[in-house]
Amino acid sequence: MRIGVIGVQGDVSEHVDAVARALQTYGKSGEAIAVRRPEDLARVDGLTIPGGESTTISKLLVKLGLFDEIVRRGTEDAMPIMGTCAGCILLSKDAGIQADKTKTKLLGLMDMAVDRNAFGRQRESFEADLVVDGLDAPFHSVFIRAPAILRTWGTCTPLARHRDRIVLARQGHLIASAFHPELSGDLRIHRWFLDLV
Ligand code: GLN
Repeated sequence: MRIGVIGVQGDVSEHVDAVARALQTYGKSGEAIAVRRPEDLARVDGLTIPGGESTTISKLLVKLGLFDEIVRRGTEDAMPIMGTCAGCILLSKDAGIQADKTKTKLLGLMDMAVDRNAFGRQRESFEADLVVDGLDAPFHSVFIRAPAILRTWGTCTPLARHRDRIVLARQGHLIASAFHPELSGDLRIHRWFLDLV
Protein backbone atom coordinates (compact mmCIF):
# COMPACT_ATOMS: atom_id res chain seq x y z
CA MET A 1 0.00 0.00 0.00
CA ARG A 2 1.08 3.55 -0.62
CA ILE A 3 0.12 6.22 1.92
CA GLY A 4 0.21 9.88 0.97
CA VAL A 5 0.97 12.71 3.36
CA ILE A 6 -0.27 16.10 2.22
CA GLY A 7 3.06 17.87 1.87
CA VAL A 8 2.26 21.51 1.27
CA GLN A 9 2.78 22.96 4.78
CA GLY A 10 3.08 21.79 8.39
CA ASP A 11 4.77 18.85 10.08
CA VAL A 12 5.08 16.80 6.90
CA SER A 13 8.33 14.92 7.57
CA GLU A 14 7.13 13.82 11.04
CA HIS A 15 4.04 12.35 9.39
CA VAL A 16 5.98 10.60 6.65
CA ASP A 17 8.28 9.11 9.32
CA ALA A 18 5.38 8.01 11.54
CA VAL A 19 3.52 6.34 8.66
CA ALA A 20 6.72 4.61 7.51
CA ARG A 21 7.40 3.38 11.07
CA ALA A 22 3.81 2.21 11.46
CA LEU A 23 4.02 0.23 8.20
CA GLN A 24 7.20 -1.41 9.42
CA THR A 25 6.01 -2.01 12.99
CA TYR A 26 2.77 -3.64 11.91
CA GLY A 27 4.33 -5.74 9.17
CA LYS A 28 2.58 -4.07 6.24
CA SER A 29 4.49 -3.65 3.04
CA GLY A 30 4.25 -0.21 1.55
CA GLU A 31 5.62 3.28 1.60
CA ALA A 32 4.78 6.81 2.70
CA ILE A 33 5.11 9.63 0.19
CA ALA A 34 4.56 13.40 0.36
CA VAL A 35 1.70 14.54 -1.87
CA ARG A 36 2.17 17.89 -3.60
CA ARG A 37 0.74 17.29 -7.08
CA PRO A 38 -2.39 15.61 -8.49
CA GLU A 39 -0.10 12.87 -9.92
CA ASP A 40 1.06 12.04 -6.37
CA LEU A 41 -2.52 11.86 -5.11
CA ALA A 42 -3.50 9.51 -7.93
CA ARG A 43 -0.89 6.99 -6.69
CA VAL A 44 -1.96 6.67 -3.06
CA ASP A 45 -4.38 4.28 -1.34
CA GLY A 46 -4.78 6.36 1.82
CA LEU A 47 -3.99 9.90 2.88
CA THR A 48 -2.99 11.78 6.01
CA ILE A 49 -3.40 15.53 6.40
CA PRO A 50 -0.86 16.90 8.90
CA GLY A 51 -0.93 19.67 11.44
CA GLY A 52 0.09 23.14 10.42
CA GLU A 53 -2.04 26.13 9.58
CA SER A 54 -5.39 25.08 8.20
CA THR A 55 -6.06 28.29 6.24
CA THR A 56 -2.67 28.02 4.50
CA ILE A 57 -3.04 24.30 3.80
CA SER A 58 -6.55 24.83 2.42
CA LYS A 59 -5.45 27.62 0.07
CA LEU A 60 -2.50 25.58 -1.18
CA LEU A 61 -4.69 22.53 -1.78
CA VAL A 62 -6.93 24.65 -4.00
CA LYS A 63 -4.00 26.31 -5.76
CA LEU A 64 -2.24 23.02 -6.47
CA GLY A 65 -5.38 21.38 -7.84
CA LEU A 66 -5.63 18.82 -5.01
CA PHE A 67 -8.69 20.04 -3.11
CA ASP A 68 -11.56 18.70 -5.26
CA GLU A 69 -9.80 15.41 -5.93
CA ILE A 70 -9.30 14.77 -2.17
CA VAL A 71 -13.04 15.35 -1.67
CA ARG A 72 -13.88 13.04 -4.57
CA ARG A 73 -11.53 10.24 -3.44
CA GLY A 74 -12.77 10.58 0.14
CA THR A 75 -16.40 10.19 -0.93
CA GLU A 76 -16.72 8.22 -4.22
CA ASP A 77 -13.71 5.94 -3.59
CA ALA A 78 -14.07 5.89 0.23
CA MET A 79 -10.29 6.38 0.44
CA PRO A 80 -9.17 6.30 4.10
CA ILE A 81 -8.06 9.73 5.31
CA MET A 82 -6.62 10.70 8.70
CA GLY A 83 -6.43 14.39 9.60
CA THR A 84 -4.51 15.64 12.62
CA CYS A 85 -4.92 19.09 14.14
CA ALA A 86 -5.09 21.41 11.08
CA GLY A 87 -6.06 18.25 9.14
CA CYS A 88 -8.89 17.64 11.63
CA ILE A 89 -10.15 21.19 11.01
CA LEU A 90 -10.07 20.65 7.24
CA LEU A 91 -12.01 17.38 7.46
CA SER A 92 -14.84 19.07 9.39
CA LYS A 93 -18.01 20.54 7.95
CA ASP A 94 -18.01 23.58 10.22
CA ALA A 95 -15.02 25.37 11.75
CA GLY A 96 -16.86 28.39 13.05
CA ILE A 97 -16.30 32.07 12.71
CA GLN A 98 -12.49 31.90 12.47
CA ALA A 99 -12.75 29.76 9.34
CA ASP A 100 -15.46 32.01 7.89
CA LYS A 101 -13.43 35.17 8.52
CA THR A 102 -10.31 33.73 6.87
CA LYS A 103 -12.40 32.19 4.05
CA THR A 104 -10.90 28.78 4.81
CA LYS A 105 -12.47 26.26 2.45
CA LEU A 106 -13.14 23.01 4.33
CA LEU A 107 -13.01 19.55 2.78
CA GLY A 108 -16.20 18.90 4.77
CA LEU A 109 -15.91 15.12 4.69
CA MET A 110 -16.75 14.45 8.36
CA ASP A 111 -19.99 15.19 10.18
CA MET A 112 -18.48 17.33 12.90
CA ALA A 113 -18.08 20.95 13.95
CA VAL A 114 -14.75 22.12 15.36
CA ASP A 115 -13.44 25.10 17.29
CA ARG A 116 -10.01 26.25 16.06
CA ASN A 117 -7.44 27.00 18.76
CA ALA A 118 -9.95 25.79 21.37
CA PHE A 119 -7.24 25.09 23.96
CA GLY A 120 -5.51 28.46 23.65
CA ARG A 121 -2.47 29.81 21.89
CA GLN A 122 0.90 28.27 21.02
CA ARG A 123 2.31 28.73 24.55
CA GLU A 124 -0.67 26.86 25.97
CA SER A 125 0.35 23.74 24.05
CA PHE A 126 0.41 20.69 26.32
CA GLU A 127 0.62 16.91 26.57
CA ALA A 128 -1.98 14.60 28.07
CA ASP A 129 -2.72 10.91 28.55
CA LEU A 130 -6.03 10.16 26.88
CA VAL A 131 -8.45 7.34 27.44
CA VAL A 132 -9.37 6.24 23.91
CA ASP A 133 -12.27 3.94 23.06
CA GLY A 134 -10.85 0.71 21.68
CA LEU A 135 -7.36 1.09 23.20
CA ASP A 136 -6.62 -0.64 26.48
CA ALA A 137 -3.82 1.65 27.70
CA PRO A 138 -3.86 5.48 27.71
CA PHE A 139 -2.59 7.27 24.62
CA HIS A 140 0.04 9.92 25.31
CA SER A 141 -0.82 12.87 23.12
CA VAL A 142 0.63 16.23 22.15
CA PHE A 143 -1.65 19.24 21.61
CA ILE A 144 -0.26 22.26 19.76
CA ARG A 145 -2.66 25.18 19.30
CA ALA A 146 -5.17 22.41 19.00
CA PRO A 147 -8.78 22.52 17.91
CA ALA A 148 -11.56 20.73 19.76
CA ILE A 149 -14.40 18.86 18.13
CA LEU A 150 -17.52 20.62 19.41
CA ARG A 151 -20.06 18.09 18.21
CA THR A 152 -20.47 15.17 15.87
CA TRP A 153 -23.59 13.88 14.14
CA GLY A 154 -24.65 11.08 11.80
CA THR A 155 -22.16 8.23 11.80
CA CYS A 156 -19.27 10.34 13.11
CA THR A 157 -18.40 8.93 16.53
CA PRO A 158 -16.33 10.50 19.33
CA LEU A 159 -13.50 8.22 20.54
CA ALA A 160 -11.68 10.36 23.11
CA ARG A 161 -12.25 13.45 25.20
CA HIS A 162 -10.00 15.89 27.04
CA ARG A 163 -11.39 18.48 29.49
CA ASP A 164 -14.88 17.43 28.39
CA ARG A 165 -14.16 18.16 24.76
CA ILE A 166 -13.99 15.63 21.93
CA VAL A 167 -10.45 15.28 20.59
CA LEU A 168 -10.65 12.12 18.47
CA ALA A 169 -13.45 10.97 16.16
CA ARG A 170 -14.03 8.40 13.47
CA GLN A 171 -16.54 8.20 10.65
CA GLY A 172 -16.12 4.95 8.74
CA HIS A 173 -12.92 5.34 6.69
CA LEU A 174 -12.13 8.79 8.14
CA ILE A 175 -10.26 9.62 11.37
CA ALA A 176 -9.77 13.09 12.89
CA SER A 177 -7.58 13.91 15.88
CA ALA A 178 -7.17 17.31 17.51
CA PHE A 179 -3.74 16.19 18.78
CA HIS A 180 -0.64 14.87 17.01
CA PRO A 181 -0.36 11.06 17.06
CA GLU A 182 2.68 11.38 14.78
CA LEU A 183 4.67 13.07 17.58
CA SER A 184 4.30 10.81 20.60
CA GLY A 185 5.98 7.69 19.24
CA ASP A 186 2.79 5.70 19.93
CA LEU A 187 1.58 4.33 16.63
CA ARG A 188 -1.67 2.65 17.71
CA ILE A 189 -3.89 5.24 16.01
CA HIS A 190 -1.80 4.95 12.86
CA ARG A 191 -2.39 1.21 13.05
CA TRP A 192 -6.16 1.75 12.95
CA PHE A 193 -5.66 3.94 9.92
CA LEU A 194 -3.48 1.39 8.13
CA ASP A 195 -6.06 -1.31 8.90
CA LEU A 196 -8.64 0.79 7.06
CA VAL A 197 -6.52 1.08 3.92
N1 GLN B 1 -4.36 26.16 15.10
C1 GLN B 1 -4.01 25.67 13.80
C2 GLN B 1 -5.08 26.01 12.78
O1 GLN B 1 -6.04 26.63 13.09
C3 GLN B 1 -3.78 24.18 13.85
C4 GLN B 1 -2.58 23.89 14.72
C5 GLN B 1 -1.87 22.60 14.39
O2 GLN B 1 -2.12 21.97 13.37
N2 GLN B 1 -0.92 22.23 15.22
O3 GLN B 1 -4.94 25.69 11.64
